[in-house]
Amino acid sequence: MLYFNNMSLGSFLKDLIKNLFFVRTWTYSTLAQNVKYYRKYNVLPDSLSLPDYLEFPYSFWQRVKDLRRYTDNDGHEYASSVYVIDNDIILTPFIRGEPHQVNIKYNIKWHYEPVDSARYVKKVYVNNEKVLEKTVYKYQIPKKLYSIYLFSIHTHPYHADIGRYGYYSNQDMSSLVNSSAIAIGLITDKFNLVFKTNKSPKIWTKQDNINISLLKNLGFAVYQAGFGKKLEKL
Ligand SMILES: [Zn+2]
Repeated sequence: MLYFNNMSLGSFLKDLIKNLFFVRTWTYSTLAQNVKYYRKYNVLPDSLSLPDYLEFPYSFWQRVKDLRRYTDNDGHEYASSVYVIDNDIILTPFIRGEPHQVNIKYNIKWHYEPVDSARYVKKVYVNNEKVLEKTVYKYQIPKKLYSIYLFSIHTHPYHADIGRYGYYSNQDMSSLVNSSAIAIGLITDKFNLVFKTNKSPKIWTKQDNINISLLKNLGFAVYQAGFGKKLEKL
C-alpha cells in the first residue's frame, strides 16, 4: 500500500490529473480581455468558464497590503478601483470611508514620452495624480491604446467582538448586483473576489448571514487567496 502524506492514492491521482489537464489560471491581462468581451456583448460569464485560479502581480499585492494596513491603523474602510491600462494593472488612489456612499468618478489619462528610438516613458494619471511611471519598449505599446475597468476593492475592519474581519455586507452585494461591475474585491485577512455570473440573482435580497457557501449557492463565483498567492476558486 502506498501512502502520500496521508493522501490516498485515489485523491493523489485525481489531483495530479486535475493539475495536468484541467486547471486553468488567468493572469490579470487574460481577465481584462474577458471582461472586455463581457462588456462588449453585455453578457455575464458562466461560472464554469471562469478559471480555477487568478494571478495578480507583485505591484497589485503591495497595494492590497497597504490598504489592509491603513484600515488596521485607523479602523476605517479604504477603497480603490482596479484598471488595466495598456497591459499594466493600476489601482486608483485610495479613498477613505464607506466606499459605497461615494460616487467615484475617475479621470484617467496616460501617455508615452519618447526616450530614444526604441524606448518610451509611460505615465498614467488618475485625477491628475501620477499612479504609474515606467519605461517601455516601443513594441510593448499596443497599436490601439485601451483602459479596462476590472473591479473595485475595499477593506473591512477587524471586529473584535466576533474575532474576525467581516465578510461581504448586504450593501456590498447589492452594489455589485446593481452595478455594471463584473466583480467586487474585499480585503479581510485574505483577498476575496466575487464574480456575478449568468446564474447569480439580478436583484439582491437581504441575507442574514453572508458567507462563502451562501454566495456559491446563489450562483456567484467566489475566489480567495492569502496575500501574494494565486486566487483560488472555491
Ligand atoms: Zn463592504
